[in-house]
Amino acid sequence: MPHINAGKTKPEYDVIVVGSGAAGGQTAYTLAMDGAKVLMLEAGRNYDPVKETPMFQTRHQAPLRDSGTPEKPFGFYDATIDGGWKVPHEPYTNASEKSEEQFWWWRARMLGGRTNHWGRISLRNGEYDFKGKSRDGVGIDWPIAYSDVEPYYDKVESLIGVYGSNEGLENTPNSPEGVLQPPPKARASEIYTRKHAQKLGIPVIPIHRAVLSERLNSKKIPKWLHPNNPKAARILAQEMEQRLACFWATPCGRGCSIKANYQSTTVHIPPALATGNLDIITDAMAREVEIDAAGKATGVNFIDKTTGLDYSVKGKIVALAASSCESARIMLNSKSALFPNGIANSSGKVGKYIMDTVGAGLGGQIPAWENMPPHNEDGAGGSHSYVPWWLYKEQLAGKLDFPRGYHIEMGGSRGTPRVGTFNGLEDYTEGSYGKQLKEDARRFYGSFMSYAGRGEMVPNDDCYLEIDDKVTDKWGIPVAKFHWKWSDYEIRQAAHMHKTFAELITEMGGTIRDEVDTTGKKAILPGGLIIHEVGGTIMGDNPKTTVCNEYSQTWDVKNLFITDGGPFCSNADKNPTLTIMALAWRSADYMMDEMKKGNI
Ligand SMILES: Cc1cc2nc3c(=O)[nH]c(=O)nc-3n(C[C@H](O)[C@H](O)[C@H](O)COP(=O)(O)OP(=O)(O)OC[C@H]3O[C@@H](n4cnc5c(N)ncnc54)[C@H](O)[C@@H]3O)c2cc1C
Ligand code: SF4
Repeated sequence: MPHINAGKTKPEYDVIVVGSGAAGGQTAYTLAMDGAKVLMLEAGRNYDPVKETPMFQTRHQAPLRDSGTPEKPFGFYDATIDGGWKVPHEPYTNASEKSEEQFWWWRARMLGGRTNHWGRISLRNGEYDFKGKSRDGVGIDWPIAYSDVEPYYDKVESLIGVYGSNEGLENTPNSPEGVLQPPPKARASEIYTRKHAQKLGIPVIPIHRAVLSERLNSKKIPKWLHPNNPKAARILAQEMEQRLACFWATPCGRGCSIKANYQSTTVHIPPALATGNLDIITDAMAREVEIDAAGKATGVNFIDKTTGLDYSVKGKIVALAASSCESARIMLNSKSALFPNGIANSSGKVGKYIMDTVGAGLGGQIPAWENMPPHNEDGAGGSHSYVPWWLYKEQLAGKLDFPRGYHIEMGGSRGTPRVGTFNGLEDYTEGSYGKQLKEDARRFYGSFMSYAGRGEMVPNDDCYLEIDDKVTDKWGIPVAKFHWKWSDYEIRQAAHMHKTFAELITEMGGTIRDEVDTTGKKAILPGGLIIHEVGGTIMGDNPKTTVCNEYSQTWDVKNLFITDGGPFCSNADKNPTLTIMALAWRSADYMMDEMKKGNI
């Protein structure tokens, strides 16, 4: 069973999965490998990274030399099709006209969703991250602990392949021996940062990214992941053998035709399809979840974007994995006599507590790096090192004026030059031109560094989405309307980021290139800009205050699940996708158990 047309579905599926990104891919993978009959509905077009990735094109071959445009914010070759903060025919609105109260909603409309492009930074949440409120009194605790998710982190890391190291630092969990792949060597700028950061008590360690630094062990891992399922283990082994190790030379954001990095389209979907248990319909825009008179979900109504026709498909279970805000939108649009405010919304919490990551950055120029001899530092398409949050003790002792932490990502090296590489060079060249300008360019190339903070946001009552009753998309579906406001916690955290980056650059003997914002108000980036949307359908112990239980099963409709980041109760500084996949796997295991027990 493969890609099918809208009218060719089976009379009923075990599970209908809406979305095909990290969440939908993982949900469909787990279910199909375990024998469930699954239908995946994906609003974007079909996409095959093996055939379509322009891995080896050089930038000068692209329009505008591959620089960003509103349609392609990350450049011409970026893997994202029909995506960005603006998606053709799919508007959204903001309730406020004030820029600081607006949410920027990024979407990727294609098979595999945002996983075709994402930065692949894959950090586990730690113990504290699930129990923030118990530690400092703010936000919302998760109903689960790290120990509940830990086995699923092990599985996801083993399946997708993550490089990194175990450092045993506070709230920065180790993976079991042999699960992580060896990290690439730190770049020159990262080694220099590490040396000087040490003096400030700031740790710099290898980052974790979903990139294969060596081939996966196709003899061992599939049997371990699917112990009593020889068919699944055989299929996974065959698929793993087709994944090559990274050769450290091409931008991961274009996708990876040798399958060295994780994309749902190269890692989750191919084995799930090979089981014969998965049907996929692309260009299928889910409109609403349908229910029967007893309040049980019966399936999904969707629009075939190629014809504009409406279809209804039936499933014993519906799993929404359309990205956190989109799943909330689908639920709010699924109105009925039983659920006049949207399906499974008796708590009134669907759409509430949406979160992004706190982001702020600062750049510097480091004289010690001038006139570096030529060397190749392309490496994996992203940092090789990062700074995990390091001030837990100071925070607990009340020495900081904000709760929760941030990690630091860094950018700077002699990677292949691109448009913008020499932006700001004129500040250092004193008006040189001709031969002297060339010499100056060589001198300063690779001497610039940027630090980007990625911090935890505490959920608040001011950040939510509702349905805009005046605006619809091209298919007549009411759009999402956002309300957004950073609290003082995040703003003060952004100020701390700037202070730290300024200290770091100064310690390295560098000059700071941007204004240091001691208030945080200017430093903090708009909500949604970091593209880590989570929340909107939070999980908990109490059906009156939360939307779903610890398995992402909605309280009100027991055969409706949300397997994307919607059920997140907090958004730790750790980038969310590894946790989305771990929770999706856990939720899909639970669905299988419940189906076997006849509870669903
Ligand atoms: C530039 C960039 C860098 C990032 N870097 C990182 C990183 O380094 N680390 C990290 O952890 N995260 C990162 N992220 C975030 C990461 O991509 C997301 O957390 C992750 O993809 C979320 O998975 P998802 O399945 O919920 O959503 P998506 O991957 O967005 O998939 C959702 C899918 O559902 C489909 N869909 C939506 N609505 C409907 C509908 N109504 N009907 C049918 N289908 C629908 C969409 O078309 C899409 O294919 C990054 C994202 C971007 C864009
Ligand atoms: S750097 Fe490695 S993982 Fe990234 S696209 Fe190139 S080969 Fe693939």
